[in-house]
Amino acid sequence: MIANRGEIALRIIRACKELGYLTISIYSEIDKNSLHVKFADESICIGKNDPLDSYLNIHHIMSAAIAKKVDAIHPGYGFLAENLEFVEAIEDLGIIFIGPNSSTLKKISSKTKSKNIAIELDIPIIPGNMESIADFNQVKKHAYEIGFPIQIKSDNGGGGKGIRTVVNPDELSNAYDVVVNESLNSFGKSKVFIEKYIENPKHIEVQILGDKYGKIIDLGIRECSIQIRNQKIIEESPSSFINEALKNKLVNDAITIMKTINYTHAGTVEFLVKDNQYYFLEINPRIQVEHGITELVTGIDIVKEQIKIAFGNHLKINKTDIPINGHAIECRINATDFLNGNEIKDIVLPGGNGVRIDTHIYSGYTIPSMYDALILKLMVHATNRKLAIAKMRIALEQLIINGVNNNIETLYKIMHAKSFVIGNYNTRILENEVTYIGDEFDE
Ligand code: ADP
Ligand code: ADP
Ligand code: MG
Repeated sequence: MIANRGEIALRIIRACKELGYLTISIYSEIDKNSLHVKFADESICIGKNDPLDSYLNIHHIMSAAIAKKVDAIHPGYGFLAENLEFVEAIEDLGIIFIGPNSSTLKKISSKTKSKNIAIELDIPIIPGNMESIADFNQVKKHAYEIGFPIQIKSDNGGGGKGIRTVVNPDELSNAYDVVVNESLNSFGKSKVFIEKYIENPKHIEVQILGDKYGKIIDLGIRECSIQIRNQKIIEESPSSFINEALKNKLVNDAITIMKTINYTHAGTVEFLVKDNQYYFLEINPRIQVEHGITELVTGIDIVKEQIKIAFGNHLKINKTDIPINGHAIECRINATDFLNGNEIKDIVLPGGNGVRIDTHIYSGYTIPSMYDALILKLMVHATNRKLAIAKMRIALEQLIINGVNNNIETLYKIMHAKSFVIGNYNTRILENEVTYIGDEFDE
C-alpha cells in the first residue's frame, strides 16, 4: 500500500510493479481522478480532502490497510513518512513498514536529538542549544548566549517550514511566534531550538542505503543549495564545487551516524558547508524528493532497493560498484499560486536523451490547493555539469504548462545566472543580486 499521493505515489507504484507486487493506493475525495488511483491495482478512499482527515489520518489509513490485508506500506515523503506513531501502528499489526524501524526513528525523532548523537560522535554541528524549548524566556536566553544572527527552528520541522532568521533582537519575539504557529500548523508540534545562523552556506547531503544486516553504503552526495525560503528548488549530483577531502570526511561522518542508529533503508544525512567547514544539519529517514538525480548518476533504483530491503533482502551493491557517472540536475516545478486558476489546460513535456520527468499532472487535471505545490520534477543527465546545464536550459524551454502559474521562468533564469553557472553560489543566491548571461557559458 502506498500511503501518499502525487508524483511520489506514482514512482512507488512503478517500482512495486517492476518487482511484481500488487499495489493499493489510498486517496482523499478530491484525488479520486488522480493518476495514483488509476495506476494502482486497487484503491481505497480514506477520507475528506483535509490532510488531517486523509493522508495524515493514521486511524483511517490503518483501517484501510487492515481491510485490504496489505503486506507492506510505503510512506513516500512528507505526510506520515517520519511519524513514529504511524510506524508503531504499522509494526503492531505485523505489517512491513518500508522505512527504518520505530526504535531507530525514536532516536532521531527531533532535530535536537539527532544533533546530540552527532556531538557524541564528534561530528561537527552548528552551535546552538541542544534541547527543545517551549518557552520564550528560554529562547531569549539561548539566543543571547549564541549571539545574533540566529535561526529559530521547529524541532520537528521539514520542507523548510518553521525556520526563521533573527538578525535584530527586537524581532525575536515575533519570529518565535511565527515559528511556533507554522510548526503547529504543519507538524502539530510547537517545540523549537536555536542555532547560529550560518551566512551563505552550501547545502550538501549524502544518500545512504542500509539493509537489515548492518550493511550501510553511500550513493554519493547531492548539492541542494538553490533554495527559496529554505526549500530546495534545484538539486545536483555530484557537487562540483566542494573540496574532495572535505567531501570524504562528511560522507564518512554520514555513514558513522547512520551505523550508530542502526539505520536501514534509504535515508539522507544533510550538512551545511561554509568555506572549509561542514556542519551536520539533520537526518531525513525516508526517500527524498531529489532521489532521482542520484539514480541517474549511479544507475541504482533507490525505491526498488528500499522495497527489497524491507522484505529482508541483503543489499547486494558494494560501494566499489558505484562509479558516479556524469552529472545530473533536477528542477522542481511548483505551482506558485492559483490566481489564474488551478486546472492544467495544456501540457507539453520535453524529452530526448538524458531527460527524466516524474509527475502526476496531465492535461485537464485540477491541482488541489490543500496539498504540496510540487507538480513536476524535471531531471537531466549528461557527461558533465556544463552539458547538464545546457540540456536543462533546453528542457525548460520545451516544458509548457498552461493554466497554472508556476516557477518555470525562475528556474530558467537560474540556469542562466552567472553565479550558478560558474559555481559561485550558496543557499542565499536568490536573495542577492543576480547577473544573467545568455545561452553561452560566459567563458
Ligand atoms: P526533501 O528533503 O526530500 O528535499 P522536502 O524538505 O522538500 O524534502 O520535503 C518534501 C515534502 O515533505 C514537503 O511537502 C514537505 O513539507 C514535507 N515534509 C518534509 N519533512 C517533513 C516532516 N518532518 N513532517 C511533515 N512533512 C514533511
Ligand atoms: P528542513 O527540515 O526544513 O529541511 P533543515 O534544518 O534541513 O530544515 O534546513 C533547511 C534549510 O534551511 C537549509 O538547507 C539551509 O538553507 C537553511 N538553514 C537551516 N539551518 C540553518 C542555519 N543554522 N544557518 C543557515 N541556514 C540554515
Ligand atoms: Mg532538511
